[in-house]
Amino acid sequence: MNYQQVLDEIWQEVASLPPEGEVASYIPELAKVNPNAFGAHLCDVSGGHYAIGESEKKFSIQSISKVFSLTLAISLAGDPIWKRVGVEPSGDPFNSMIQLEFEQGIPRNPLINAGALVICDYLIGQLKDPKADYLRFIQKIAGDDTISYNYSVAASEKQWGHRNAAMANLMKAFGNIHHDIEKVLDLYFHICAIEMSCRQLAKTFLLYTFHGKVPHTGEQLLTLSQAKRLNAIMQTCGFYDEAGEFSFRVGLPGKSGVGGGIAAIHPGEYSVAVWSPRLNPKGNSFLGMKVLELLTTKTGRSIF
Ligand code: GLU
Repeated sequence: MNYQQVLDEIWQEVASLPPEGEVASYIPELAKVNPNAFGAHLCDVSGGHYAIGESEKKFSIQSISKVFSLTLAISLAGDPIWKRVGVEPSGDPFNSMIQLEFEQGIPRNPLINAGALVICDYLIGQLKDPKADYLRFIQKIAGDDTISYNYSVAASEKQWGHRNAAMANLMKAFGNIHHDIEKVLDLYFHICAIEMSCRQLAKTFLLYTFHGKVPHTGEQLLTLSQAKRLNAIMQTCGFYDEAGEFSFRVGLPGKSGVGGGIAAIHPGEYSVAVWSPRLNPKGNSFLGMKVLELLTTKTGRSIF
């Protein structure tokens, strides 16, 4: 497959589309980004790298980071975390509180905010220095120690994080947050504030393409069964309340973030990351979805 040619064709097609969607502004620091920024990077299993646009520019990966925190929790804990967080799509916005009250403080899945807060709480109980250890974990999978937090974004999230604080408090009342709420929120805001480029993201997501093996070290970080489950959760829960639409149009497991990034994989074939900050009303990158839809259409390959 000539992925570079496919990406070039896609870039030509999307470049002529009128700009659609809005940059996330509920975290003020995110609103500073160029709304028309665009990049994509694809890594295939033979070591090939293919890119278009600003594929080397770092952006705020936001909720894509929830996949890595879940990966770390699973690699440390195995199954016990599933007592505290479910594996069903929420069908609600990522920061919705309605289900949490009905479902006794057990979040629907680990890729919505409430679920990621529970995972942060779990990690705080397992790690000596959670923020530093988490960062090292991502750097290890990526094989890249330049990956870091954007502290201004983390501070901006904290300042405007009332809804996340409300969720953490509600779950604490139900007994599903065990540690100090401020510590849990601080870790959560930092993990969302990780910055990576499309190249770095695609390279890191190769872990899921290779069924839980870090390709550049050969380490089997997740068991095959854990990797299968992670990919299944991305497929069913990775796109806010638009996971069905993403499966329908694109047909790959992946995760989006309100920074405008989407990372997705074709197990055993490739990983891909796209960045375009204008979001559709559900919070997914408008062009990001379009690019991935074109990718699976033009290559004629999806997981379905
Ligand atoms: N840090 C964001 C929040 O908590 C993450 C949102 C996202 O990317 O889904 O609202």
